[in-house]
Amino acid sequence: MKVLRTIAECRESFEKRLNIGFVPTMGALHAGHVELIRRCRAECETCVASIFVNPTQFGPNEDFSRYPRPLDLDLERATEAGADYVFVPDVDEVYSNDVVTVNVTGVSDQWEGAFRPGHFDGVATVVLKLFNIVVPKRAYFGLKDLQQCAVVSSLVRDLKLDVELQFVETIREASGLALSSRNNFLSEDQRTQAAELYRTLRWAAQQIATRQESVEVVLAMGRKELERHGMAVDYLALVEPATMKQITAHSGNSRIIAAVRVGSVRLLDNVSTANP
Ligand code: AMP
Repeated sequence: MKVLRTIAECRESFEKRLNIGFVPTMGALHAGHVELIRRCRAECETCVASIFVNPTQFGPNEDFSRYPRPLDLDLERATEAGADYVFVPDVDEVYSNDVVTVNVTGVSDQWEGAFRPGHFDGVATVVLKLFNIVVPKRAYFGLKDLQQCAVVSSLVRDLKLDVELQFVETIREASGLALSSRNNFLSEDQRTQAAELYRTLRWAAQQIATRQESVEVVLAMGRKELERHGMAVDYLALVEPATMKQITAHSGNSRIIAAVRVGSVRLLDNVSTANP
């Protein structure tokens, strides 16, 4: 595995390579990231991962400075998972005095876009920059960040990018808790509490899929259940994933999305209503 620090090194390394697969990450790699790298390794000739804590996708009062950065461990994990290259740029390599920002409208307006203004501009901008640096044929993203998948899909479609997107189902702890770099901030008790999020989402998905109750009633009951377990609920909704629009009836690919706060840690998760 080779570590690349600059755009020039990337251009030189990737110029003649066909069929590059790419896994963008912010590091603090866990089994979810490892799964994306493994998939990329299995399906592409060259597997490139990036580790870049992107400042533009964090709000002023968010956790950019305390975001975990265990680089040595990350490089070990990426190597074990099969990455040929890991691109680890400094902020100055990616941003200078930029005057261009990518703004994906529509899919980014609600949910995370509403709770984290500017977040998806930062995501879309950095993803486009990274795609231009790595020039992948395929790129791998986790469905855990469902709205991010919709934003990146819109980016690729509207800007006619020649990148095939692959979305990978969420990897979870045995308790059901979706793996996330931010789980490092949870105490043992909070971890137990956080596992109730997945349990509640599964329950709601089953209720909605079998049409036991109206979607509205199920979501109201789900919200109460989350609150009963000490979570503050930012949103809990049934959406159509391509548009991220709220819907009121189960469809073949609808998903229930949630964002909750456990103490100061904000957790996202979502489940399909197709096979709950
Ligand atoms: P991050 O480092 O949080 O920006 O995540 C990098 C990529 O890994 C994104 O495409 C995420 O959606 C994906 N990812 C994060 N957590 C998981 C998980 N538990 N299972 C699968 N993919 C994940």
